Amino acid sequence: MDQKEKYIFVTGGVLSGVGKGITAASIGAVLQAAGSRVSIQKCDPYLNVDAGLLNPAEHGECFVTKDGAETDLDLGHYERFLDIELTQKNATLSGKLLSELIANERAGKFGGKTVQLVPHLTQAIQRAIAKAGKGSDVHIVEIGGTVGDYEGLSFVEAIREFSQKVGRENCLFVHVVYVPFLGTSKEFKTKPAQNALNDLRGFGIVPDCVVVRTDEVAPMSVAKKISLFGGVSEESVLLLPNADTVYRVPLTIAESGLKPLLTKFSGVTKEPDLSAWKTIVKAQTSKPKKTVTVGLVAKYMDNEDTYISIVEALKSAAWEAKVGLKVKWINAEEATNDDFAHVDGLVVPGGFGARGIDGKIAAATYALEHNTPYLGICLGLQVAVIAAARRGGLKDANSNEFSDTKNNVVYIMEGQSGKESTGGTLRLGDYPATLLRNSKAASIYGSTQVVERHRHRYEVNQKFMQQIEKGGLIVSGTSPDGKLVEFVESPTSTYFVATQAHPEFKSRPFRSHPLFAGLIQSISIDK
Ligand code: GLN
Repeated sequence: MDQKEKYIFVTGGVLSGVGKGITAASIGAVLQAAGSRVSIQKCDPYLNVDAGLLNPAEHGECFVTKDGAETDLDLGHYERFLDIELTQKNATLSGKLLSELIANERAGKFGGKTVQLVPHLTQAIQRAIAKAGKGSDVHIVEIGGTVGDYEGLSFVEAIREFSQKVGRENCLFVHVVYVPFLGTSKEFKTKPAQNALNDLRGFGIVPDCVVVRTDEVAPMSVAKKISLFGGVSEESVLLLPNADTVYRVPLTIAESGLKPLLTKFSGVTKEPDLSAWKTIVKAQTSKPKKTVTVGLVAKYMDNEDTYISIVEALKSAAWEAKVGLKVKWINAEEATNDDFAHVDGLVVPGGFGARGIDGKIAAATYALEHNTPYLGICLGLQVAVIAAARRGGLKDANSNEFSDTKNNVVYIMEGQSGKESTGGTLRLGDYPATLLRNSKAASIYGSTQVVERHRHRYEVNQKFMQQIEKGGLIVSGTSPDGKLVEFVESPTSTYFVATQAHPEFKSRPFRSHPLFAGLIQSISIDK
């Protein structure tokens, strides 16, 4: 068989959540910078069909692709690191594959055969990998969880078989392990990592390289030990301590023993051009003359990953404006005007459910009344509209999501009612919007035609426009047919813009998104 694509499989050992996604994305970035066409995919062993109904407090943000897949936040890392737009095929969950298998079984498509995890699920996984990798030079596949987890075994078996089918020489196995530091004896402990490597070998996979994640810089003796007991050469063990910024990881990889391995594997000998990465690392680590503080009116206070794309979008806007950034987390459930008064600008992010809603409406009201720069994202637009309608005289203005008042200025679309807690029934993915000529939104985008990703169910009820306008907001963007409100803004504020979409998903570290750039610029100007 003439095998075109090459595959890099990134698995994890010891613990999950130590940066497998960043490692996978960074390897991709190095290969891409050398001229390879890179694609990437996340395989998750959950029984969920997608990430849409997963609790963000536990799993972090739900990232949405342009074609409306509700995915794991690692896809956000991939898009930011590789500056590509991913789709449904780049996120593969057990639940999705199993539900398809069971549907096929019910439809009689197996001709009387016993349907089994091996080979039926494993083959479905392999088909999903081949499909997502088609047409690339190198396809990177990250397997969620850690090797040895009961639920992930089908994936490990699937990639082992896959490497046999496409040729072992066309596959590179990267195992990411965690090495803890014991404070009492002041030493790094490699035993869990050694066991993790044994586990992987037990499943028939001998890794080509091992990435060793540590909290602090570890001595070379750690690499030596893992090399000896793990059966990989010393150059193929990469020590990767916590970085000051995740955007340094591609640079670290490019300077490590992994680089010749990647060059040999990909066959691309051109030196990677990593100047863009150097620029952003410099921007992030150099001392700015001025620092701005953005208040993020948040509902989930315990897991920073819940708003990761928003924070990354703010950071890239700050680098571009050459200012430092402090993100102050304001607990929406306890927020007071005093909190809003102590920040330079406010972001109200997306969200579902009533918890913290009063604090978010209060933030929008405060911003309208005090000319505080405000960026509203999805729910952040809806609370701004509620705040304006209340200011415009509709004292009980609210949203169907939180109340039964007849003055629901944000309401449920026809066909959406009754689906509030079901998966995949939101308005998802890319939708175009037409912006009002001469509006703030059109001026910051530099265009009146934009496309942004969506994930929501409720819409602004334009029947209440009079009160909303009286309260200080105009509609500055709608769906092309004018039926759906996509953007609102305050014509009298320095910067008060809100969108029904999620612009954070399209921000890139090298290219900040206009809405975030607009916010940061408005608060960076010396008054
Ligand atoms: N809960 C709101 C809706 O469903 C907003 C969703 C969001 O902010 N992503 O419309």
